[in-house]
Amino acid sequence: MTPFGGRVEQRTEQLVHPDWTWINGRLERGVALGIDGGRITYLGPPNRPSTLRLPGKALVPGFVSAHSHAFQRGLRGLVEGRPDAGAAGEAKPGGFFSWRDAMYALVDRLTEESCYELSKQCFSEMLASGFTTVGEFHYVRHLLDANGQGDESKRYALDGAVLAAARDAGIRIVLLDACYMTGGFGKPLAGGQRRFETRDEREYWSRFDALAAACDPATQSVGVTAHSVRAVPIDILERLHAESVRRNAVFHMHLEEVRQEIADCMAAHGRRPCQLLLERLAIDGRFTVVHATHTTAEDLGGLAERGATVCLCPLTEANLGDGVCDVGSFRAKGGHLAIGTDLNSRLSATEELRWLEYVQRLRHEKRVVAVGSTADAGAELLAIGTANGARSLGLDAGAFQVGALADAAIVDLNHSTMAGWTPETFASHLVFGTGTSAVCGTCVGGRWKIRRA
Ligand SMILES: [Zn+2]
Repeated sequence: MTPFGGRVEQRTEQLVHPDWTWINGRLERGVALGIDGGRITYLGPPNRPSTLRLPGKALVPGFVSAHSHAFQRGLRGLVEGRPDAGAAGEAKPGGFFSWRDAMYALVDRLTEESCYELSKQCFSEMLASGFTTVGEFHYVRHLLDANGQGDESKRYALDGAVLAAARDAGIRIVLLDACYMTGGFGKPLAGGQRRFETRDEREYWSRFDALAAACDPATQSVGVTAHSVRAVPIDILERLHAESVRRNAVFHMHLEEVRQEIADCMAAHGRRPCQLLLERLAIDGRFTVVHATHTTAEDLGGLAERGATVCLCPLTEANLGDGVCDVGSFRAKGGHLAIGTDLNSRLSATEELRWLEYVQRLRHEKRVVAVGSTADAGAELLAIGTANGARSLGLDAGAFQVGALADAAIVDLNHSTMAGWTPETFASHLVFGTGTSAVCGTCVGGRWKIRRA
């Protein structure tokens, strides 16, 4: 049968037989996947007639965007002109905070419908580029006016829109439920920030439990999230994290994307944000920080030693002119990296991965910097984009193993950008040489979406 030209519906039991399969960091021929109940139940030679034959294709684990704000897809193309001026009080005109003003203006215009449409567009585009899971860092919650006033029943009205968009697009989602309490260290929320508001810890956990109950257990789950040290007082952040550990949930937060946050934290606490977290929180492998752009080598080492993940968003960090994380110091201590698409101005898993490496090459004026502990940089980047992202989100996915979630991307080996590939060069060929069109389908929990190559 030809797999192209339409959607193949989920079957209760499947045997999928691609020509090549990415297993244990290498490409192997003749390995079929048995899938049942959304999980992989068999890996080995085809032992019965296949329900889906994929000739000329390689199957790789689905890519994971561990950090996204789907609604920001609505800013694409709108914020690339030179800002007239910085945000009020901004130390560096034209920097992050002037972009943030444009983002807040988008927030002002969001409705349940537009939030759903933008999110669905974003998630569909992710799937088309091979992402099968999104860690959606969700902080725009309420439909209130710009002063945070309005219908109390519209608090958290946008939560359902995002979950519905993920369901309808067909992507796996970990909804990272963001706690957001202050507009800076010791400052109340101002203006549109009231749309992000968490009133207190009781409200946070009751909403967290409600969201968990609303999730489709097959493809949706929730994670604990503090927006940043700017947005959650440290005592509350400490308790939130302790409770997330007790619940065995993952914990995500933004960290040190801009130097201003570090200066403000030094003024408030006499410590850098990462220093503060390392001192106050029992950080472990369930903890992920996003960006760590200006984090010191010492603090990155501390995160690595605790098993934390640093999620980099190379295309976003480049777009915003944030700066470059000292990845070498983190990797030298065995730190885990993952990737996120963050503002979603471009959705391409392979582009995100190669730019993770390329910005390091540009900075250090040498090759193979971010990765390179093995001979195959592409294989390492592939693991960062799959297994490491799944680990960051607490999912049993990102690698083909019996018992794991059946999430995969299909690579068309006959696509022009794959010409010249060999089993030995496959991963580097894919990561360094292809865009989104070499990916011709995805599988999320045994449900396939396949398009004509
Ligand atoms: Zn972010």
